Amino acid sequence: MELTRKAFLRGLGGLAAATGAAWSAPGRLVAAAQKAGEAGKRPTIATAEVFAFTIPQAVPMKIALGTPLTADNVLVRLRTADGVTGLGESAPYSAVMGETQKGDLVLGAALAGIVKGRDPFELPKIVEALDAFTPHNPGIKAAFEMALWDICGKIAGQPVYRLLGAYRESFETDQTVYLDTPAAMAEKAEAIAKKGFTHIKVKIGQAPDLDVARMKAVREAVGPKVALRTDANQGWTVPDAIRALRALEPYGLEFCEQPVPHWDWTGLARIRGSVPVPIMADEGVNSPHDAITGLRHDAMDMINIKLMKTGGILQAVRLAHIADAAGVPCMLGCMSESRLALTAAAHVVLSQRIVHYADLDAFLEHDVDPIVGGMQVKAGVVTVPDAPGLGLEIDPSFLRKLQPVG
Ligand code: MG
Repeated sequence: MELTRKAFLRGLGGLAAATGAAWSAPGRLVAAAQKAGEAGKRPTIATAEVFAFTIPQAVPMKIALGTPLTADNVLVRLRTADGVTGLGESAPYSAVMGETQKGDLVLGAALAGIVKGRDPFELPKIVEALDAFTPHNPGIKAAFEMALWDICGKIAGQPVYRLLGAYRESFETDQTVYLDTPAAMAEKAEAIAKKGFTHIKVKIGQAPDLDVARMKAVREAVGPKVALRTDANQGWTVPDAIRALRALEPYGLEFCEQPVPHWDWTGLARIRGSVPVPIMADEGVNSPHDAITGLRHDAMDMINIKLMKTGGILQAVRLAHIADAAGVPCMLGCMSESRLALTAAAHVVLSQRIVHYADLDAFLEHDVDPIVGGMQVKAGVVTVPDAPGLGLEIDPSFLRKLQPVG
């Protein structure tokens, strides 16, 4: 009777996934059945597949570091011996992390060998093993790690943010205006505000006079009520940053991300002591260790945490805890993830009280959205489904076109 019911419920879950239908209710039943069926038995990862996928950018993400025209990402799919699947994604950004899609595919084949045979609930030990294999390449490590969280949530019958400790039910994300002329950026910001977003991020970090003209145009276009934050992506020198951020004071910025190169902690501290705009470290803080370095330099008011920098959810939470203890508010940000890895980041936001800001908008400029379920954004407000794990699947028609590597 138990086996028949379990098989029936699994069939329901598979059917719903295959049709792209609302699958969360059967998904919960499947998870409950699996939990009951596996009482006293530890799950093990039986298969690990790695796929390349590319999503064209509807709008090029032009920032001070470069202009990617496509999101060249990597999908990881893990499956337990009992058939519970978990999904993860890497969105490598070579200019920041030195990581590429091709490199992630090669490493992914090696990391697959490390996770196979492991109990997904021993996630910290698996993360330790992944870090021991490569101290770098955080994107592909994050992809494996979020797939493990997805599996743990499905077996437990709970969304990932509840496994981490539920703190809030929703939050607001911004949407980003990429580098362009002041007039074009003002037009884009106005369109974002019209969709109901109350927070807009504006990319700058080029000639200070041009950057000030951009921000002036954006502020005039959206009016005083929209919160504006900005990101120089390491584009300025220390004197440029001081000059620009003093000139930007009238536009009421929430903060400025990474005005100078990631390694320049003393420069960042000088800027922080010289300008009225709060300073958020981004490219300078990848890991929990970097957060401690930034705190020792007294160089940042805030930290931008990204799963593609930390190597996954566990390290992102460790970083958030350091920031929490230091009273330094954090943001969850992104590279060019689809809604898969963005949903994983959303689960972190929902669980961490020190995360006051979110910039989880990459998919809004993608030509294709391959995710069914997952986080939803309405007028800037983000929610995740009340479903186990990450609460998402890959669109089967999209997945069919991909070939596993390794
Ligand atoms: Mg940034």
